[in-house]
Amino acid sequence: MMDQIKWLGRDLLRVVVVGGGIGGAELLRNAATRGGLDLVLVEPKDRIDCQALYPDYLGGRIGIEEMTVPLDPFCKKMDVVHVKERALKVDFDDKRVICEKNYLDYDILVLAPGAVQNYFEIDGAEKAFSINTLKETVRARQFVEKNRPKKIAIIGSGPTGIETACFLAEHTHCKIYVIEMMDRPLPTLSKNASTLMDKILKGKGVEVLTRKQVESIGEAGVTFADGSSLDCDMTTWTAGIKPAPLIENLDLPKRSGWLSCDQYLRVQGREDVFAIGDCAWIEIGGKLATKTGMEAEIQAKHTARNLARIAKGTNLKPYSIRASTDSPVALISTGCSCAVGIYGDLCVPIPKRIIYTFKSWIDKSFVKRFKV
Ligand SMILES: Cc1cc2nc3c(=O)[nH]c(=O)nc-3n(C[C@H](O)[C@H](O)[C@H](O)COP(=O)(O)OP(=O)(O)OC[C@H]3O[C@@H](n4cnc5c(N)ncnc54)[C@H](O)[C@@H]3O)c2cc1C
Repeated sequence: MMDQIKWLGRDLLRVVVVGGGIGGAELLRNAATRGGLDLVLVEPKDRIDCQALYPDYLGGRIGIEEMTVPLDPFCKKMDVVHVKERALKVDFDDKRVICEKNYLDYDILVLAPGAVQNYFEIDGAEKAFSINTLKETVRARQFVEKNRPKKIAIIGSGPTGIETACFLAEHTHCKIYVIEMMDRPLPTLSKNASTLMDKILKGKGVEVLTRKQVESIGEAGVTFADGSSLDCDMTTWTAGIKPAPLIENLDLPKRSGWLSCDQYLRVQGREDVFAIGDCAWIEIGGKLATKTGMEAEIQAKHTARNLARIAKGTNLKPYSIRASTDSPVALISTGCSCAVGIYGDLCVPIPKRIIYTFKSWIDKSFVKRFKV
């Protein structure tokens, strides 16, 4: 039988936050100091982690302690109740979140369960290494250290694929291939960015294979739709994300599977449900928000302020997108303590140490702010 998580009996707005990643944790940090809110976090993991540092970890540059922080001391300090379970479904009529063992009622629900790797049902892809969760990244690093692969294929040439290739090129002596289905690396960013990255990768001896659609992945390597194949002893999959399974189970308005939000970051048509971060489709004034940590963080801060407004009975303020898909902002590590900065069509023509130092500072300070 399920138990109900009891609220503290205070006359406060009961807010349940599902997901304690970048969006959820940042929202709690900002909401907790505002008063008028009784906060509960539903999160199965016991650490907050910064995905942006996974490639650094994979390359052996940092340890787990530098990219993660324990969740419970932070929740205790913020007076947030942590329910260490996965949310399974939501009863929107009764305003109730049903978790694995317990259920809890809310006044306001904030959904921030993020995204998971999308394998597009490609045969064998799920067995490849992924750099999308801490567990998978740890598994990938252990494999590299133990088996010392000679040839590694990285599927997907988005920022994660590129960073993974650069860190592995820096820290191993293996031959690295980056596989891309489109006609250029970094296909979602500008052509200038692709040209620069192509040059950087070539300079590191990384081979970029474009217009290659993966058909299957097996122990011996990768097979492509054009009939060709690539032998390798490790395959890493970085080619795409999809909404977390919880989102798939919720009967709410969606765009391409993501939760469709209004200008206040509430799910369309629901005044009591907000969605932030990767799980949300946020399109305001013709701009579409990118699925980045930077956006998740700003959305979280904005939502914390709006929650305080609800508690006070004042009007919500509309959100304004910072990093949109038409002018994306990206700092991409290229190994050897360097990174490139990209903003829309503009990019710094050579990788710079100062950009890596800046990126590293941003990522590490995200982790530090939750340390107690
Ligand atoms: C390798 C990598 C590198 C990246 N680098 C950058 C970068 O340099 N800059 C940048 O801006 N962005 C970067 N990103 C993207 C960024 O990490 C994400 O956009 C950001 O984490 C999204 O935040 P979120 O809160 O929506 O989701 P997440 O941070 O993924 O958090 C979601 C949380 O929800 C929890 N959860 C999931 N399902 C449930 C459930 N049913 N019940 C309860 N909890 C649940 C999960 O355990 C997780 O803790 C990178 C991503 C990856 C994978």
